Amino acid sequence: MDYDLFVIGGGSGGVRSARYASEKGFKVGIAESKDLGGTCVNRGCIPKKLYSYASHFSSERKIMESFGWNISKIDFSWEKLVRNKKKELLRLNKIYKSLLENSGVKIFKNWASFNTKGELVLDKKKVIKSKKIIIATGGRPRRLNIDGAEYCITSDEAFDLKHMPKRILIIGAGYIAVEFASIFNGLGVETSICFRGEHILSSFDEDASKFLQNEMTKKGIKFLPKTLPDKIKRISEGYKVFFKDKKYKIVDQVMFATGRVPMTENLGLENLKINRNINGSIEVNGYFQTSNKDVYAIGDIIDRIQLTPVAINEAMFLVDYLKKKKKKIFSYNNIPTAVFSDPNLSTVGLTEEQARKKYKKIKIFKNEFRPLKLSLTKFNEKVLIKLIVDASSDKVVGLHFVGAEAGEIIQGFSVAIVNGLKKSDFDKTMGVHPSTAEEIVTLKSK
Ligand code: FAD
Repeated sequence: MDYDLFVIGGGSGGVRSARYASEKGFKVGIAESKDLGGTCVNRGCIPKKLYSYASHFSSERKIMESFGWNISKIDFSWEKLVRNKKKELLRLNKIYKSLLENSGVKIFKNWASFNTKGELVLDKKKVIKSKKIIIATGGRPRRLNIDGAEYCITSDEAFDLKHMPKRILIIGAGYIAVEFASIFNGLGVETSICFRGEHILSSFDEDASKFLQNEMTKKGIKFLPKTLPDKIKRISEGYKVFFKDKKYKIVDQVMFATGRVPMTENLGLENLKINRNINGSIEVNGYFQTSNKDVYAIGDIIDRIQLTPVAINEAMFLVDYLKKKKKKIFSYNNIPTAVFSDPNLSTVGLTEEQARKKYKKIKIFKNEFRPLKLSLTKFNEKVLIKLIVDASSDKVVGLHFVGAEAGEIIQGFSVAIVNGLKKSDFDKTMGVHPSTAEEIVTLKSK
């Protein structure tokens, strides 16, 4: 055997499993065909957050005058943002490479797959022999199968557009669609977002997602619920998008944010008889083992929860399991997460709907208020805080927050919720005054 463990894919899950396994004494190799760091670093979380910072400055600018600032000239260069982002990602790629090398992992910049003999091969040539294999090949954006789909971009291309469009239509209602809507709107693009359902972010708490949609509407984004495109035509002024209800819209750019497809193409999974789920993701048991006992899979390719910290934690869990072989199965409860829209929406624990199904009786504590930061302005944007408590145990089982820096605020409170703290524990905690987050510990009336 050349390796104890060979990892396919150098994204969040792959890099962490390779590094951690090598540090635990395994002889490890990793194949990454594109850029180390995968989706998160190159086409996901990191560039998305940088662009979201860029776009949030426009909200700040609007309130600055009320605080006495005089801003006579302000200008934004999309080209400079793209250039600076590329520089930063190159720096991160290098860091990932040295982290792997310093941990003793052998890196291959090749496409890995299984040949008809079931052997692991790099670029269909070099055979690699490894005791165990981890597949961490992630996913790619899904494109709708409609006329004119070829004119549309996805999140992969959105970060590197040559020019910023004047008008954009985003198709989708998930967090990627919502975040890009805020990014483009904040940068001054006339932004619309269309989707099948009645409101955005259907898997989040309904109050929170409807509240966010309302706040984003106040900022100028046009929401087109129950509206799906039929075909897209190229015309001299841009693209004409025809909807199923016979209406149409003319924009300069159309973006699909319609979910992600597991990256199993040209992997040769059939040669190893690895079972897949209906949506094409790889089927694994509670220990991330596939139907082939020596092959494991983690991250977006197994389509449990598509988030970087989840892929990283699955990676460490799996390596610990391979080392010791005894463990409880991985838990997906209470994963904190944020939508980096403007304003942010963040959440940890159960939605109201999930809590009502799980507990006999729940208590809801909710508050909507105008943040102090806007008190000198004429803006009427609001913050929403919603706490869900199991009535019989008094345990806080869900927290949902819409407002500035909600992503940062939820991280601290998730420690309390993950550790089963009660509403009475929240009540004994003093607030930091004056702050937005203090409202979470001062919610009194149901
Ligand atoms: P990936 O990171 O996708 O890595 C897979 C790697 O495998 C890729 O580099 C690919 O090139 C390589 N590969 C594929 N096939 C092969 C092969 N056969 N041989 C060699 N290499 C191969 N998550 C968050 O937690 N927070 C966020 O804010 C967030 N924002 C996001 C924004 C966007 C626009 C997107 C698209 C995703 C975002 N995510 C976010 C999700 C996050 O990026 C993913 O959950 C995470 O990257 C999954 O890691 P992974 O290791 O499973 O796969």
